[in-house]
Amino acid sequence: MPEANNAAVIASKAQRASASPHLRDSMLALRKVAPQRGFERREIAVPNFGPSEVLIRVEKAGVCGTDAHIYDWDKWAQKRIKPPLTIGHEFMGRVAACGATVRSLSVGDRVSGEGHIACGICFLCRTGEAHICEHVKIIGVDRDGCFAHCIVMPEVNVWKLDPAVPDEFAAVFDPLGNAVHTVMAAGVSAKSVAITGVGSIGLMAIPVARAAGAASVYAIDVKPAKLELASRVGADEVFLGSDPNLVDEILKRTNGDGVDVLLEMSGSGSAIDRGLAMVRNGGRAALLGIPSDTININLAERIIFKGLTVLGINGRKMYGTWYQAQALVKSGRVDLRPIITHILPFDQYDRAFELMSSGAAAKVVLDVKGDLAE
Ligand SMILES: [Zn+2]
Ligand SMILES: [Zn+2]
Repeated sequence: MPEANNAAVIASKAQRASASPHLRDSMLALRKVAPQRGFERREIAVPNFGPSEVLIRVEKAGVCGTDAHIYDWDKWAQKRIKPPLTIGHEFMGRVAACGATVRSLSVGDRVSGEGHIACGICFLCRTGEAHICEHVKIIGVDRDGCFAHCIVMPEVNVWKLDPAVPDEFAAVFDPLGNAVHTVMAAGVSAKSVAITGVGSIGLMAIPVARAAGAASVYAIDVKPAKLELASRVGADEVFLGSDPNLVDEILKRTNGDGVDVLLEMSGSGSAIDRGLAMVRNGGRAALLGIPSDTININLAERIIFKGLTVLGINGRKMYGTWYQAQALVKSGRVDLRPIITHILPFDQYDRAFELMSSGAAAKVVLDVKGDLAE
């Protein structure tokens, strides 16, 4: 929470003096100001930062399904979000100022950031599982996010970018990390892979799976436009989720056995059911899509008798996934350009959400820095 955060913060006047000379006292931020639909772009104070934190000037920010839930003010958002709050968790930018004890970063560094801020001291954090820390605070959800000219991040969460990573790719390292974590956890080398749900993360999983050595990749979605994109980024074959013969079609292509691996990216109950039905006995299913409610699956038929290994996937490994994602982008084998369908000025955020809900966009990136040019 920004208020609690500020209480622990050293007065920032002196810090500001050593910061980027372009820094002002106030900034624009996309805020959820009241418990209702929509966002407002408000002028607010540039946030203070603690000794182990950095202030980052945001340049590009990715718009995510999570932001759309908060925009729409659905049931999940009503339970989780406490306005007023700055939204947004996918970004890249440059370090504008560093707290007194920050050692690994300097003003001007080009960075992205892990938006899940783990507690660092619980059992999970201390045993290499910080991505599932029970006390996690997520930027743009539990504390102020990146749809703003500046964001405060703990030094440990900041990822210094390789110069070879383009800005717009760096802005979506968070969802790319979800795709990489899912593919790597499932293990796809020399295997047949079905992906149910090719929204932006499902689409990203296609070139990642290819680069990780998948023998074949089948993409499944209910939207034909998404399937076209899936073909463009490397799926061998694409299938409409509404096709009543879908499972048979997949079985036909896999000797009647089914695919080795399912990557579930849709969160739809029927897609999960059919996805599990198309995995071979002894296969693996990695589940990333989040069902909005309890779903009904015949566990005996779909998992137990088949001897499936089912993995729940949450966030990104800190920071193994980040090294993998950057290495894959640098290799040139994971090209996100066809997936980032729109780069919009910061003030066109309403359009970003329209494009996403109509299905016209895959990934939308907001150009936050461009907003400052005057
Ligand atoms: Zn996201
Ligand atoms: Zn923890």
